[in-house]
Amino acid sequence: MYCRKYFIVVALLVAVTAMVMQSCKKEKHYHDYFDKRQLDVIAKLGNKPKLEDKHLQGDTTWVDDNGLHRIATYPLPGSYEDLFIDYNDVQIPHARDNGFEPIDNYHDAYHLRQPLVKIESCEAYLLDSLTHSMPYLVPKAALVLEEIGCAFADSVKAHGGSAYRIVVTSCTRSQYTVNKLMKVNRNASSRSCHMYGTTFDISWVHFEPYENDYYINTEDLKTILGHVLLDFKNKKRCTVLYEKGQCCFHMTVI
Ligand SMILES: [Zn+2]
Repeated sequence: MYCRKYFIVVALLVAVTAMVMQSCKKEKHYHDYFDKRQLDVIAKLGNKPKLEDKHLQGDTTWVDDNGLHRIATYPLPGSYEDLFIDYNDVQIPHARDNGFEPIDNYHDAYHLRQPLVKIESCEAYLLDSLTHSMPYLVPKAALVLEEIGCAFADSVKAHGGSAYRIVVTSCTRSQYTVNKLMKVNRNASSRSCHMYGTTFDISWVHFEPYENDYYINTEDLKTILGHVLLDFKNKKRCTVLYEKGQCCFHMTVI
């Protein structure tokens, strides 16, 4: 009898431990983007290094103790959560105006009457390995994406940095992939802007040096991207939502 009780308690403990480990595993995917050196820097971001403490390389850049290049940036006029709040109710009408009718599966994409542009890695952006979307956008969205990538690269250089690219993590989805995504991501919506060919995601944790190994602190690059997106948003070129859980900016062309 005791033996049976003991077995049940052990089995319950094993099950609870497995559940806790599973949930920890899901939350930690954010860390997959960084090596240990970068994680240490991110942990210290609360107290940004003072210029006089560091190895100065000029007026605007320096190297921190971890060997990462830092860039002096102007703070944004608010938090990312306050500045980029274009939720579905704002983005869907623009997606409808500029995109195609949502498709059920990728095969239907061949029958679309609208032209689509294939998104391929270039000097302006790196295309991540897409798992739940396909690399196509309507021409207007492809143009805005390229312009954002170029503006970001120009701004990094203007701040004293080297050639850098943004990383595109999602483009166009079908109803089939949206359904699949909803099973693994509880924030995914059944009415997704990604089904119209007008919407793409840009990572704020992953940036890529372009043909060099000059590594810049991620938080500095995120601030520069934030300024670029604010500019595009203010000029009514696109709507922008800061997605904290997905570590990306989700945007739809206007
Ligand atoms: Zn998105």
